[in-house]
Amino acid sequence: MSDGGDTIVIVEDEPQIAELLRDYLHGSGFTAEIVGDGLHAVDAIRTIQPALVLLDLMLPGKDGLAVCREVREFSRVPIIMVTARVEEIDRLLGLEIGADDYICKPFSPREVVARVKAVLRRAAAGRPPGAGLLQLDEQRYEARVANQPVALTAVEFQLLKLLAAEPGRIFSRNHLMDRIYPDHRVVSDRTIDSHIKKLRRKLETAAPEMEIIHSVYGVGYKVEYPDPD
Ligand code: CA
Repeated sequence: MSDGGDTIVIVEDEPQIAELLRDYLHGSGFTAEIVGDGLHAVDAIRTIQPALVLLDLMLPGKDGLAVCREVREFSRVPIIMVTARVEEIDRLLGLEIGADDYICKPFSPREVVARVKAVLRRAAAGRPPGAGLLQLDEQRYEARVANQPVALTAVEFQLLKLLAAEPGRIFSRNHLMDRIYPDHRVVSDRTIDSHIKKLRRKLETAAPEMEIIHSVYGVGYKVEYPDPD
């Protein structure tokens, strides 16, 4: 085992899923190592020093939550949490355990590989690019995307400001609702979806082909800037 430069560690106790993921990752040019339980995961990650960890939440011995926390004590390695239930993701986001992305089972291995690549790209870029791509003028509720002005409603502006404050961080609909409507006015998560939809349309009109707000399927939204190239 050399240094884990391009190795992905798969922490997964269901052998079929683990092997399927490993095969797909191999097919995409990655090396992948499977760890079948939570007890050995932290040591394996410490030893292998992988490029990225796919971490199942429900594991025998020690759950993914504990593993993630322990790894974060010594490593900033990108971690993608894998859960069996969408509702779990909401809870995990609230705990702010420091995972980089979340995937819900059942998943397509193809999607997992795409997410792995995206997280690795983001990690390689270090600080997210995009400073300057998006500016917010609080006085006028105005955004500028690639220097094009975009007039926003108050709610749209607040949403964009929240998301843009932490590029790459995934915000759940519930979290966004709590932040936008602190008085807990009765709004459904559809309300957030429809504001985001309008917001995205405005941004896209101003700067076509530059996707800034990304939806994370079943989870929520994040701001991510396009690669500079
Ligand atoms: Ca499991």
